[in-house]
Amino acid sequence: MLARKAILSVAGNRFMTRAMTRHGLKIGAGRFVAGVSLQDAVEATKRLNDQGLAVTLDLLGEGVTSRDDARAMAEGCAEILGAIERERLDANLSVKPTQLGLTIDPEVAMANAAHLQDIARQAGIFIRVDMESSDTVDATLDVVKRLHAREPNVGTVIQAYLYRSPKDLQELAELGMNVRLVKGAYLEPPSVAYPAKADVDVAFKQLIAQHLSAGCYTAVATHDDAIIAFTESFVREKGIPRSQFEFQMLYGIRPERQRELARAGYRTRVYVPFGVHWYPYFVRRLAERPANVWFVLANLMKP
Ligand SMILES: Cc1cc2nc3c(=O)[nH]c(=O)nc-3n(C[C@H](O)[C@H](O)[C@H](O)COP(=O)(O)OP(=O)(O)OC[C@H]3O[C@@H](n4cnc5c(N)ncnc54)[C@H](O)[C@@H]3O)c2cc1C
Repeated sequence: MLARKAILSVAGNRFMTRAMTRHGLKIGAGRFVAGVSLQDAVEATKRLNDQGLAVTLDLLGEGVTSRDDARAMAEGCAEILGAIERERLDANLSVKPTQLGLTIDPEVAMANAAHLQDIARQAGIFIRVDMESSDTVDATLDVVKRLHAREPNVGTVIQAYLYRSPKDLQELAELGMNVRLVKGAYLEPPSVAYPAKADVDVAFKQLIAQHLSAGCYTAVATHDDAIIAFTESFVREKGIPRSQFEFQMLYGIRPERQRELARAGYRTRVYVPFGVHWYPYFVRRLAERPANVWFVLANLMKP
């Protein structure tokens, strides 16, 4: 926990941000980010599809503060939808609500998301609205529910570390929504989230059981073998078909395990982030696993 806080605070430093944005893809971030351009992401997607892995594409950029930037982000996402259709990729789209303008005004995010949803609907593509820090959850759920009422090609994410999540998930299950379940990646106070990893793991398993038992499509997004094993035995025991769930992992994290799950016949999807604004995403991946800081430092030492 201390290492996580230290990484998040050093990484937020302005000098670090500037230096890393300039050189970071060369010194290690390229392991977690597919590149800066849509073409880079399309090529990474094709390589993964060839290995039997589905993809969700994510144009990096969050916490957008102007309407023009939010609109530009939405246009970037629309280009992804175009590429998925044109290149016949086995892929869908993940978007961050603050990237579409949620913190400017939830109506801005709603309008941008609805625009994307219309394009996606025509192409038969699913959109996942990612979940960000706890202060954005209410507004995000509100936007997602409204989008889902327009067309059910939209789902969202529920974070196991938040105390509120069982209730939120129940409401989404009543709508029959496709939900991605995760542990949660943001630094949250103990007033809203379990501070201990063991409690998050218990909560995660309960949410998986809850959503699968409700008959809803469930994306179990984790690199944790204990959670994967729990899901495998739960679906076996309850006779839940493989068409009702999938496993998801992040680009560059446990790639061998991703292929192993696909070979075992599980639908497995890789979250492929790309774009020039890759730094905050990269920092969250380092903070989750401080050992990765050594991986970056080792690359720095290379001639
Ligand atoms: C597809 C996908 C989408 C996600 N979307 C969201 C979202 O919308 N909102 C949100 O808050 N969070 C999201 N997350 C992040 C998630 O909340 C966790 O922070 C992250 O997945 C790490 O938790 P874990 O379940 O893998 O378990 P952990 O207990 O963190 O890790 C289990 C094991 O996985 C491996 N591992 C985990 N992380 C790393 C890493 N960075 N580098 C190398 N190895 C690692 C290690 O072997 C570790 O022991 C997403 C994660 C995935 C996989």
